[in-house]
Amino acid sequence: MNVCIIGAGPAGMTAAYQLAKTGIAVEVFEAGDSVGGMARTLDLWGQKADIGPHRFFSSDPRINKVWLEVAAPDYDMVNRLTRIFYRGRLFFYPLKPFNALANLGLFEAARCLLSYAAERLHPTPMGETPTFEEWVVSRFGRRLFGIFFKTYSEKLWGISCSELDADFAAQRIKKFSLGEAIWTALGLGKTQHKTLVDQFAYPHGGTGMVYERMAQKCIALGGKIHLKTPVRRVVVEKGRAVAVELENGQRLAYDHIISTMPMTHLVERMDGAPAEVLRALHQLTYRNTILVFLRIPAKDLFRDNWLYVHSADLQTGRITNFRNWTPHLYGKSEESIVAMEYWCYDSEALWKKTDEELIALATDEIQRSHLLPKGQAVTAGHVERIGRSYPVYARGYKKPLSVVENFLRTIGALSVIGRYGAFKYNNQDHSILMGILAAENIRKGALCHDLWDINTDYEYQESSVITSTGLQESAAP
Ligand SMILES: Cc1cc2nc3c(=O)[nH]c(=O)nc-3n(C[C@H](O)[C@H](O)[C@H](O)COP(=O)(O)OP(=O)(O)OC[C@H]3O[C@@H](n4cnc5c(N)ncnc54)[C@H](O)[C@@H]3O)c2cc1C
Repeated sequence: MNVCIIGAGPAGMTAAYQLAKTGIAVEVFEAGDSVGGMARTLDLWGQKADIGPHRFFSSDPRINKVWLEVAAPDYDMVNRLTRIFYRGRLFFYPLKPFNALANLGLFEAARCLLSYAAERLHPTPMGETPTFEEWVVSRFGRRLFGIFFKTYSEKLWGISCSELDADFAAQRIKKFSLGEAIWTALGLGKTQHKTLVDQFAYPHGGTGMVYERMAQKCIALGGKIHLKTPVRRVVVEKGRAVAVELENGQRLAYDHIISTMPMTHLVERMDGAPAEVLRALHQLTYRNTILVFLRIPAKDLFRDNWLYVHSADLQTGRITNFRNWTPHLYGKSEESIVAMEYWCYDSEALWKKTDEELIALATDEIQRSHLLPKGQAVTAGHVERIGRSYPVYARGYKKPLSVVENFLRTIGALSVIGRYGAFKYNNQDHSILMGILAAENIRKGALCHDLWDINTDYEYQESSVITSTGLQESAAP
């Protein structure tokens, strides 16, 4: 049995590692020059930094076990501090009512509470496919939606919140509401809500360390990993994936292919996708991320792991301060690395800006934000462009997605997983799980797990958390 894996991100590397452990021959093709995909770690100015903030958290023992197998004992438990930057003030996220009240002022806070009360009395009617706006307004009231959700979400997705599917909120905000936030603040909440998880595991060598180690272990077990080797297309014959064709034209045959490349590329380049599938495919869009890393010769900038930037006068949406993750990232350096995140579509002017223009933009914005001490210099910048980083959950996206899914289900010997691979808004843990289950299907020679069914809001019957001493099973999810 020989298996080809397209992409060495968390999904692809986990699948390769799991298969290699069972003696199956694996060959990974990665377009980039390192493993880890969007969860890779960069070496910058003598320090390490990730592609934006990468906290790892899961309550699924299957995922935690694999993560620990490669990361332990070289990880720290990090206390999460991630606030919202809005009009020059810092609000806790998830919202803490007393902090929000103090920052908003009595008058604005009263308006927010009245708007929430009005929502409870006369709930916003939900459409057949509820939108992000309807979902959030129903839980927080219209006023808080305007302050804390609208600007950030529209920066991130580039479409109005009334055009964004409620799935995004259901997945990321879960069942949290203002009522629950107040209850929790008063110490009356029943269990800690998932959104409120305030500790996460973080590898000493940056988030990419996990995938670098998986790659090393895979190679030690006989697996092959080819960097800078993009796959052009998957060759399908008689309804079965039989080979991959590399960009250089080389054709290589396999018994099974796992694809984590963008679903749109996979299907477009495949022979025989029906017109109806191609039409559906073109309704699925991705948003890009630009990260501008700034080198700042100072140690104590702000305390947060990252900040969500809601202020509309700044284009950046999130600012990560890597000095607040683990000291292993900066070692003896006396400087900080801050990453400013920007989001855009291929067609937007921002995507076409030069590195110099982007560094100038980010430098100007961090200085205007007053997050740096007055007169604090930025001495260098570095830009990373991550295409297709966010599958856009535009209103009604599930319909075209299911057409594409149903087509891909008909192709034998092909497993389609990953964030842009399966068009799911995955965190690392979800991609790791997809890798684990794809490998299990291949190993058992049967479709024991429906990979399309893995959703980012799934609940697993058992639960565990990673602690500083290892896995703690059956903790509260
Ligand atoms: C800014 C940002 C912040 C994030 N924060 C967090 C966080 O806090 N916590 C968290 O858990 N997750 C976070 N994530 C998400 C996390 O990075 C992803 O869930 C994870 O990397 C997805 O893994 P993947 O393997 O599915 O895809 P990817 O990481 O995208 O890997 C896919 C790989 O396939 C390769 N590839 C693509 N096309 C081809 C081809 N044709 N041939 C060969 N190779 C190809 C790519 O180069 C890439 O290496 C964040 C992501 C971003 C962008």
